Amino acid sequence: MKKEENEAASWTICLECRGRGKKSRRLRKKVRLRYQMALDQFKKTKREGTAPVRPNKHQYLCLNCKGSGLIHSASPPIADKDNYPHVAIIGGGIGGVALAVACLHRGIPFTLYERDGSFHERSQGYGLTLQQARKAIKGLGVCSLKKGVVSTRHIVHTTDGKVIGEWGMRKWMQQEAKTSSKRTNVHIARQSLRLALIEQLGGHTAVQWGHQLVDFKDCKGEGVELNFKVGGEMKAAKAGLVVGADGIRSTVRSLLIGDDITPLRYLGCIVILGICPLAALEGLDSDLLDSATVFQTANGNERIYMMPYALDAVMWQLSFPMPEKEAKALSAQGARALKEEACRRTQWHDPIPQVLAATLDTQVSGYPVYDRKLLETEWLEKGGQVTLIGDAAHPMSPFKGQGANQALLDALALARGISSECGAFSRWKAVGIRDCVLTEFEKEMFARSASKVKDSAEAAQFLHSEIVLYEGDEPRGRCLKSKKA
Ligand SMILES: Cc1cc2nc3c(=O)[nH]c(=O)nc-3n(C[C@H](O)[C@H](O)[C@H](O)COP(=O)(O)OP(=O)(O)OC[C@H]3O[C@@H](n4cnc5c(N)ncnc54)[C@H](O)[C@@H]3O)c2cc1C
Repeated sequence: MKKEENEAASWTICLECRGRGKKSRRLRKKVRLRYQMALDQFKKTKREGTAPVRPNKHQYLCLNCKGSGLIHSASPPIADKDNYPHVAIIGGGIGGVALAVACLHRGIPFTLYERDGSFHERSQGYGLTLQQARKAIKGLGVCSLKKGVVSTRHIVHTTDGKVIGEWGMRKWMQQEAKTSSKRTNVHIARQSLRLALIEQLGGHTAVQWGHQLVDFKDCKGEGVELNFKVGGEMKAAKAGLVVGADGIRSTVRSLLIGDDITPLRYLGCIVILGICPLAALEGLDSDLLDSATVFQTANGNERIYMMPYALDAVMWQLSFPMPEKEAKALSAQGARALKEEACRRTQWHDPIPQVLAATLDTQVSGYPVYDRKLLETEWLEKGGQVTLIGDAAHPMSPFKGQGANQALLDALALARGISSECGAFSRWKAVGIRDCVLTEFEKEMFARSASKVKDSAEAAQFLHSEIVLYEGDEPRGRCLKSKKA
């Protein structure tokens, strides 16, 4: 696909697969009959033993849309206000903006509310690695990420620069091993991805900036009343479905289930981040800074991870264990103190000290790392016409690079669910949006994201332990998994 296509095209869903990107093949007669016989037998024996599992239909890629679920259209579909609930999306981060885009393509009416006064209000400078969501962004009409950088090599070192692990496309090609384009990752600044999605919406005016949700009331089947703080004033709104995409400190989650059941859980470490333009490193010659290499260096306590942020900049992320109180205090001291702490702890092999020293204070930030206990689907059931996506639903540590990936997948799954289960011939108004869409959506979301939350929490431990120093050409943590197995 050409790069300009993101801007030029409007999209609507592919009617052949109803926007799912996949089609299902009917079960073969033999398989259906076998299942029916097993079920009859189970019923005859008064349900003794285990019930037979209904075989899944075989799914295959929709050729009409090449699996994206979208096709070009002259203009976006007109929102169908009669047949879909009006969706209030709370939070214009990665997940919220993605959901708005997916609703737009499906003619689902929505309003996107964001607390920040504008796109640039806060520095949100860090890079994301797109893994599974590389495919999902095509389903959001983003065919090419102009600012994305592909990495083809991942290296692990000890602090003196000894290589203890290497993998990725370049290594496999050297070995003439079987390679697959699926095994490359795309790195992109969070704000660049967010902007690519906002452009799909037609630009910044599509977002209700400066709207901070403070309260809502579910009017049991009659929609939800919302209250926002806008400037110094309160403003009311109404919606048929509310989606909390308001991040790890979600107000929607807190109003829905309270903060006591699943409070923030400190994972025992702090991350300090920085972005350094390559131009600031003149005279430094390092093949680790070739804009296609990701590397990490660790000593069993501190660990630094460095990746391309853009073609002309790298992002580093130093993490180490620290008691929560100290981590909060260091973070509160601001960029200069964070950078000093980072430099002090990483007088290691080139180019680490040089990159950290050349990073401007304004490009440094740092936070204690938190997640929350996994949500149980029952806790959301009383939510009626309210649900959660992204970090609001399943916050996780950044060490597996999965948070944004999962938020994008959540957004697409929810919009697809609304599109296929609501609409002209649906009984959703009689049955309720929860029974029609939300329960099934939440079940899939929690099943998919639970292992990511768990693995990300485990990574917060083992990346700062001796385990990280194990020698092997595979991602850290995989060895832990194979040992456990
Ligand atoms: C250092 C770091 C590195 C990371 N690296 C990766 C990575 O490589 N890959 C990856 O997949 N993930 C990564 N993540 C995680 C990823 O950034 C998050 O998981 C992702 O941004 C979550 O998206 P979200 O939309 O759920 O929440 P957010 O992006 O946090 O957005 C929430 C939005 O809601 C708004 N909001 C909050 N409260 C309200 C309110 N009351 N009313 C209205 N609006 C509100 C906020 O202003 C914000 O804009 C990383 C995170 C960090 C910190």
